[in-house]
Amino acid sequence: MKKKLALILSLSLVLVMLTGCGQSGKTLTMATNAEFPPYEYHDGTEIVGIDVEIAQAIADKLGRELVIEDMAFDSVIMAVQSGKADIAMAGLTITEDRKESVNFSTPYTTASQVIIVKEDSDITSPDDLVGKRVGVQLGTTGDIYVDDIEDATVERYGKGFEAVQALLQDKVDAVMIDNQPAQVFVSQNEGIKIVDEAFTVEEYAAAIAKDNTELLDQVNDAIAELEESGELQAIIDKYITD
Ligand code: GLN
Repeated sequence: MKKKLALILSLSLVLVMLTGCGQSGKTLTMATNAEFPPYEYHDGTEIVGIDVEIAQAIADKLGRELVIEDMAFDSVIMAVQSGKADIAMAGLTITEDRKESVNFSTPYTTASQVIIVKEDSDITSPDDLVGKRVGVQLGTTGDIYVDDIEDATVERYGKGFEAVQALLQDKVDAVMIDNQPAQVFVSQNEGIKIVDEAFTVEEYAAAIAKDNTELLDQVNDAIAELEESGELQAIIDKYITD
């Protein structure tokens, strides 16, 4: 009888462990789109980058195991809302619109939208995008901004790099994307450059479900500690050298 009880108890424990991947479980599930170097990208079979290391440091502080869920960029907010993921970290810009769906942590870095063009392009500032074909990554802030440019045709791609390829093949006249991935893509390809004038200044933060304020507080505390100790800057410096 005792044995049976012990078996039932341990089985239910396993069940709790299996289903407990939500807010108070042992794992911290991060929704991301690993196509965004240096914040998150594939290195062989691994997903690495600034966001991954910051998330790992947060998970360590929380005593939780980091699990990465790689998905389309325009799914990361929904993954958090639906509870599929605990946090989204994806070079994710804080916007008023997104704030209606999720809570954002304190920002951990700043970024900007820049324009990539062919080296011989006549586009030299954001104003020159009027009437042009502009490639963006679907659902990004770049996508939103280009929508406001007069007479511009927006071509949307699943990955930032696909937009860059379209530029190389003259399918678009310019690509609008975040500054750091832009630098990586430009350094990996001949004949393209970044226009000097940046478009916006944005802040990246982790997104967390509206009802999970406990995790929001924990993540904010962890970010504050990582900032204070210099760890946050050390992670960024590992990937970004000016
Ligand atoms: N920072 C941009 C945004 O939040 C792009 C992020 C991305 O493509 N991963 O929309």
